[in-house]
Amino acid sequence: MQVIQGRSGWLEVICGPMFSGKSEELIRRIRRAEIARQRIQLFKPKVDDRYSETEIVSHSQQRLPSTPVASSLDILACVDDKTEVVGIDEVQFFDEGIVEVCDRLANMGKRVMAAGLDMDYLGRPFAPMPNLMAIAEYVTKQLAICMRCGDPAVHTQRLTDSTDTIVVGAQGTYEARCRRCFVLPDVSQEEPKDVAKG
Ligand code: ADP
Ligand code: ZN
Repeated sequence: MQVIQGRSGWLEVICGPMFSGKSEELIRRIRRAEIARQRIQLFKPKVDDRYSETEIVSHSQQRLPSTPVASSLDILACVDDKTEVVGIDEVQFFDEGIVEVCDRLANMGKRVMAAGLDMDYLGRPFAPMPNLMAIAEYVTKQLAICMRCGDPAVHTQRLTDSTDTIVVGAQGTYEARCRRCFVLPDVSQEEPKDVAKG
């Protein structure tokens, strides 16, 4: 990745399906910033407490301490003036306001890294990711390994029949699939409540 010199901030988005290494990549970038002795703050949404209330945890059990927040505005309120690097994991779970928050932090001269799912379990763009990707300087799309055939996997296959847009991933709830092996869940019998989103 090209290094931007000077005092300008910027936004990096790391996206892809579950198991594609988004958290690992975020942790890798943060560890390098730590080595460079930069001032760092990490956040995750409060909804995501499947492994740890306060840590960013990858499926390979790498972890970093973070601050769980309920809304995007909480991030703005928590970020210190002196902070140089802001990392956000599971950013798809935030409200649409996260786009302006990331923009403002970058305008304040901070390096902002945001990792999140770009598609939901129906293969639809997962708001607020599309808008976040549109305003980012750098977008890294990660792929996982398809659990059916071993091809590059772009989808997150839900293995249960829930039709809620947000079902936080426990063991065995999801697996990575390529576009050929992905089976679009049948939601036609369900109430259109959250299915209409996006
Ligand atoms: P993400 O944040 O994108 O969900 P993580 O960074 O938490 O991904 O985890 C990535 C790790 O998940 C990989 O290094 C690997 O150890 C593990 N893993 C489990 N299933 C898969 C898969 N189908 N494809 C790739 N990695 C997988
Ligand atoms: Zn496949």
